[in-house]
Amino acid sequence: MNQAKDADQSRMQKIVSLCKRRGFLFQSSEIYGGIQGFWDYGPLGVELKKNVKDAWWRDMVSAHNDLDAPAGAPSAYSMVGLDCTILMHPQVWKCSGHYDLFHDYMVDCRESQKRYRHDQVRGRWAECKDQRIFVATNVEPEEEEEDTQRRAMKFFKLRNKDLDRLSWDGGFASLTTVDTFDQVLGPDAKKLGTLTEPREFNLMFKTFVGALSGEEGAAFLRPETAQGIFVNFKNVLDSTRVKLPLGIAQVGKSFRNEITPRNFTFRSREFEQMEIEFFCSPEESHKWYQYWRDRRMNWYQQMGLSSDRLQLREHDADELSHYSTGTADIEYAFPFLDPGDYGELEGIAHRGDFDLRSHMEGKLDPDTNPLELELNEDGKPRWKGSGQNLSYRNPDPPNETYTPHVIEPSAGADRATLAFLCEAYYEDKAPDEKGKMQERVVMRLHPRIAPMKAAVFPLVKKDGMPDIAKQIYLDLKPHFNVFYDEKGAVGRRYRRQDEAGTPYCITVDGQTLEDNTVTIRDRDSLEQIRVKVDECAQVIRERLQ
Ligand code: ATP
Repeated sequence: MNQAKDADQSRMQKIVSLCKRRGFLFQSSEIYGGIQGFWDYGPLGVELKKNVKDAWWRDMVSAHNDLDAPAGAPSAYSMVGLDCTILMHPQVWKCSGHYDLFHDYMVDCRESQKRYRHDQVRGRWAECKDQRIFVATNVEPEEEEEDTQRRAMKFFKLRNKDLDRLSWDGGFASLTTVDTFDQVLGPDAKKLGTLTEPREFNLMFKTFVGALSGEEGAAFLRPETAQGIFVNFKNVLDSTRVKLPLGIAQVGKSFRNEITPRNFTFRSREFEQMEIEFFCSPEESHKWYQYWRDRRMNWYQQMGLSSDRLQLREHDADELSHYSTGTADIEYAFPFLDPGDYGELEGIAHRGDFDLRSHMEGKLDPDTNPLELELNEDGKPRWKGSGQNLSYRNPDPPNETYTPHVIEPSAGADRATLAFLCEAYYEDKAPDEKGKMQERVVMRLHPRIAPMKAAVFPLVKKDGMPDIAKQIYLDLKPHFNVFYDEKGAVGRRYRRQDEAGTPYCITVDGQTLEDNTVTIRDRDSLEQIRVKVDECAQVIRERLQ
């Protein structure tokens, strides 16, 4: 188990360093020491993430055929897109429940003035000199052991040679397993009992619109893209005149003031979501739930995530939200997690009519819904809905009117990108120009999402080879993202492209001058084929498909 954990953690460190070295990801505002929970995508990263979002949009929206039911779907359906604002009317968040219910529990440290997420602080019980304390830590998992040992020794005033006087009672556990905090040594504290009791903390970022800085001008950065879709449901129906079932998709930034952002981009404070709200009749909703759950799982598999690291997990009944009759998570065993643990890539939820009814009425059945009608100081109901009629009248017989049920496949673009990066990382050997086997790192990204599709090299910088190579580059550039490189030994150029995940390298060599052919090298199989210069684009296009 420990060996597997060490291997995964060292793999993750290599991925993180490759991301920085090759320009996939940088810490935001790094020259000022960085800002926690925010990440910038570099030249390769921006192409990769854009390709992930484009593949999703194409597969879910633009390439969707409205006329025929795709395999597994109960009937034909429509898919359209939206692009809504990040700031919305504050009432949106009251009716959606985010204003009052979107929170985490956090604990503050009175000594260090730091704030931690209650369920993410871990620690272990230490015993020494007849005292038993819980040494809490908030560092990355690979540093937990060293951090708790160093701080326990300092607390008990032990020197290295006294290490055997310190003993540990059990392994690492969450702070949530500790009932009272008197004997807890906080993650950045030197004294015991400095952590406060857990308190609720709303995750929405607050800002102020216009010149008003008081509560009247208060607004929130959206914590999910979904609400923009719900509040536009009627606009979309009226403007497109499509019939249900209908899916509305949106890709965009969301913001959550996560208390402990961690694990690279996995838990960030600013991230992008790719969400679909799929509106259908209550009778058919369960079939649609199953359809979207399976379809989304297949999508990740087709994009290259291997089945032993990817899983579909149906929530147990006690995990479901009060309005949901089915929720499943698509999860990936990221290498920064403990062996056997999985992190969520996407949730697919059957949300019933909860969202549309909340925005219509602002208040639902008190027996099934915790959003009770409350009055503001001015006597107006706080949970006042829009009052708009968001129900649907079926134009076909039996012409019934109903509030549509919603299936929500909600994915994170950054988490998907991170999973693709983790899955793609391989170390193996490839021959250099002299045929000697050399270690290489290769990012086996699916060709659809690879930042560059091909690189073009002249073998040497003479005999007119650069001119031919540049012409090939110029011919390919309008079709796909291509890179030109003539610097250094060709073996090194291949390896740089392997690290960037470029599926094909085209090389102009001595034979090109004789018969107008070039080699195309396959990143994964290392196979090299010769093709005519003017067939290059066609051959690569076929292989990319
Ligand atoms: P988690 O339990 O990991 O916080 P969640 O269940 O709150 O996630 P949802 O509200 O269902 O997440 O959001 C849908 C998707 O948005 C998630 O599956 C994930 O891919 C992405 N996402 C959510 N929070 C973050 C975050 N802080 N950083 C990056 N991606 C996120």
